[in-house]
Amino acid sequence: MPAREATVVEQVPKELFLAGKWQPARAGGTFPVVDPSTGRALCEVADAGPEDGLAALDAAVAAQREWAGYPPRERGEILRRAYQLLLDRVDDLALLMTLEMGKPLAEARGEIAYAAEFFRWFAEEAVRVDGGYAVAPNGKGRFLVMRQPVGPCLLITPWNFPMAMGTRKIGPAVAAGCTMVIKPAEQTPLSMLALADILAEAGLPDGVLNVVTTSRPGAVMEPLIRDGRARKLSFTGSTAVGRRLLEQCADQVLRVSLELGGNAPFLVFADADLDAAVEGAMTAKLRNIGEACTAANRFYVQREIAEEFTARLVERMSALRIGRGTEDGVTIGPLIDPDAVDKVSGLVSDACERGAKLLLGGSAVDGEGYFYRPTVLADVPGDARMAREEIFGPVAPISVFDTEDEAVTAANDTEYGLVSYVYTRDLDRALRVCERLECGMVGLNQGLVSNPAAPFGGTKHSGLGREGGRVGIDEFLETKYVAVGLA
Ligand code: NAP
Repeated sequence: MPAREATVVEQVPKELFLAGKWQPARAGGTFPVVDPSTGRALCEVADAGPEDGLAALDAAVAAQREWAGYPPRERGEILRRAYQLLLDRVDDLALLMTLEMGKPLAEARGEIAYAAEFFRWFAEEAVRVDGGYAVAPNGKGRFLVMRQPVGPCLLITPWNFPMAMGTRKIGPAVAAGCTMVIKPAEQTPLSMLALADILAEAGLPDGVLNVVTTSRPGAVMEPLIRDGRARKLSFTGSTAVGRRLLEQCADQVLRVSLELGGNAPFLVFADADLDAAVEGAMTAKLRNIGEACTAANRFYVQREIAEEFTARLVERMSALRIGRGTEDGVTIGPLIDPDAVDKVSGLVSDACERGAKLLLGGSAVDGEGYFYRPTVLADVPGDARMAREEIFGPVAPISVFDTEDEAVTAANDTEYGLVSYVYTRDLDRALRVCERLECGMVGLNQGLVSNPAAPFGGTKHSGLGREGGRVGIDEFLETKYVAVGLA
């Protein structure tokens, strides 16, 4: 490993962060973190067992009362300092993220900036939590409404955005006055460990944030969910796991936020600005190597422009450069693991067997690392598996439509409802289609919707609740109403 890479990995604490102290797992185990561009281990991190999880919850519970009483301005200042530290260290943090997750360095830098922005946003929101006062309708009493932290929270994050999925939860939890146990994904724990170190440096009191890395997520987290002392679960990950956690939360009637999978349609109408549509398609499809819940999963293009749109997308995607994310000019890094390559290969074969035409790519790259070539498929039938499942790779399936109604019906024909993209210059059509789409977010003439100042989240099987925006902090606040009797 080059010296700078070794130093960046070396600098990160590899232990559990419990009650403000770095500690090994009680049973002493560790697990490897692998560089997906080589398949080789970068380092080992502590492998928590259920007893470590309980220690993390004990610490969060013990810190909750004092933390809830902290001045909101001071909570905001901690986030603001952490925001600045993230930006000051963007080069090292981006390299660390590229090493453990694979995305090109420029995208990793973008994610650090995006992640930091959640802290800046919620630093500002911490001092804006307010309540209400009203005269009862009969004039005799008064209503006092206060908003208070929900209490200790359990946070679980995925590997595809290792830093931003953490700050999107930690930011509002800190702002609201909640303590936390966070479990990052097994494949990308280093970014979260580095973040915990930064938050401690920024002045976060001991016990407010506890980090548990583990290779046994169910064995460690289920007892915490069922324990009864945590009051909320916030999860980002697959729908399959989210569904299971929702069931577990029923026992203690936990507050639940779920940011789950997607199957985003990308609609291009004949009246669209084609340059903008191709540019947006590149962003919506290829950001994060296609490994994003918001990734365009199905392209529907109106017949009049389908040939030209397809040709231009093929041209742009054939110019992408595959390689290790640390190398200059690389735009497509590796997929996260061999299973991801197998899954993408299987989806492409299935579509071809059902009659899709392969126009570009269509295979994995031989040699070390988990690379898959940028791929474009035309005439993908509606019964292809990739029309129903998240592809999570650099594969663009294109289908043709004739009428607006047909396009919207196809777009909504999925159990998911996270995001949709629409390209049209007709205002009436734009509003009509946006209103009919069954999803939590729409990119209208835009291939990127994520913004810390906007409410992010899905409908249907894509989840419950919203993160970011003015409503993001609400997920971490309870409303208490006091009925005031007057003589
Ligand atoms: P995943 O397999 O569901 O894992 C997500 C997290 O849950 C990981 O930390 C994982 O730990 C943990 N986990 C797995 N099984 C668990 C269990 N039984 N109990 C408690 N925790 C458990 O998802 P992923 O593959 O990491 O991430 C990709 C998925 O996330 C995609 O479906 C993507 O669409 C979705 N996602 C959604 C959003 C959104 O905002 N809607 C954003 C990003 C990603 P391990 O790592 O140890 O398995």
